[in-house]
Amino acid sequence: MTPRLSERIEAFPAALKEQSELNAVITDTSSQALAHLDGDGTQGPLSDCLLAIKDNLNLVDSPTTCASWTLAGYISPYTATPVQRLLDAGAAIVAKTNLDEFAMGSSTEYSCFGPTRNPYNPDLVPGGSSGGSAVAVAAELVDAALGSDTGGSVRQPAAFCGLFGLKPTYGRVSRYGLVAFASSFDQVSVFARDIDLTARVFEVIAGHDPLDSTSAAEPVTSFSYDEEHARSLTIGIAREYEHEGLDEEIGSRYRNLIKFLKSEDFTVKEVSLPHTDYGIAAYYILTTAEASSNLARYDGIRYGMRARVEGDLEGLYTDTRSSGFGPEVQRRIMLGTYVLSAGYMDRYYICAQRVRRLIQRDFLHAFKEVDLLLTPTTPTLPFPIGTKVDDPLTMYLSDVFTVPMSLAGVPAMNIPMGQSRGGLPIGLQLTANYFREETIFQLSRFIEQRYSV
Ligand code: GLN
Repeated sequence: MTPRLSERIEAFPAALKEQSELNAVITDTSSQALAHLDGDGTQGPLSDCLLAIKDNLNLVDSPTTCASWTLAGYISPYTATPVQRLLDAGAAIVAKTNLDEFAMGSSTEYSCFGPTRNPYNPDLVPGGSSGGSAVAVAAELVDAALGSDTGGSVRQPAAFCGLFGLKPTYGRVSRYGLVAFASSFDQVSVFARDIDLTARVFEVIAGHDPLDSTSAAEPVTSFSYDEEHARSLTIGIAREYEHEGLDEEIGSRYRNLIKFLKSEDFTVKEVSLPHTDYGIAAYYILTTAEASSNLARYDGIRYGMRARVEGDLEGLYTDTRSSGFGPEVQRRIMLGTYVLSAGYMDRYYICAQRVRRLIQRDFLHAFKEVDLLLTPTTPTLPFPIGTKVDDPLTMYLSDVFTVPMSLAGVPAMNIPMGQSRGGLPIGLQLTANYFREETIFQLSRFIEQRYSV
């Protein structure tokens, strides 16, 4: 018999202590979860689930830190819509997890609470920025977790930790209560160890929310596996993703899966996404521009930490922002301010917006011919802690296969594909047309059942 949810919540602090070296969790919210249960708790589609949420999602009466000194002492007065939907579905939220400061990063090393470690090898990064959520699921502290994916922050850590990691279509899930990084990209996303739970959590959190004007009214269908449907899907392979820098083991897993799908009589077509190479540049212009505006609100007056109270107001702002934000966040605010400044706006920001439109067209064009795109998720296997923190460009290149989907706003998911010779997880990515998350689930389920690596 599986233990009751309340027993699992009670056992959580001890389990967390045992895995403390991984540094996956910032705040243990299990006592709040227990209080919320009252009696047997809400009966709902997730009433058997322990969940964790990234610490840039608000939960009433708990700290929201975004792994930044800037928010020290801040307690949230409200709950984010997707988090509320989890609670209403009966889930127990036992932890708020570690992340790169304000979700900016690819390794969960830029956190004021220190780095999160990869459970497959603690000397390696778990990916980021939602590394804490990925590790909490991979180490089996929880069943599933929410992260946020702006340019790959759920898909990349899912690949590094051997999990399913779904970034839904932009607008699918309400952003109400998610701390904004780049508002036209941010999407609340899901980690789980199997496809069924990934789909179940997605279905609970998705759907229109009057509190977020960018949330879509598109109906959310419930996933039920249909092998015939799965087999009817046409798979696209983009030649631009056969990258020179692609790790040899990831490349061979990718080619093997294509071979397998062909042997199962799937239609596999080559397609072209010609503007892929401009993705990273456009992404790091547009997201820094949005971040510089979004983060202006942390002025030492309205939220969290204040560096000093004496002296002039301008000085208070400067001291608070200089000491509260870490180096990566400061770099992005400066980059974003620069690309938006008079005289440079056309050259950078406007130009990047045009590139974004071209990338979006690439996808729309490809989806006229195919139902899904199969690509690698990451160019490399998990890398050692400390090797990329001082080299932002190399760090940014970790996102080369995930940012194009974020620029376009289409849904994409990492599917775990076994391990490398050295025992490290490998992941591949499936991308679908807008609002077609269900087709991703169908093919993933087919692969999960039929394909052994
Ligand atoms: N690694 C990317 C970045 O640093 C993605 C971050 C994210 O998706 N939140 O911007």
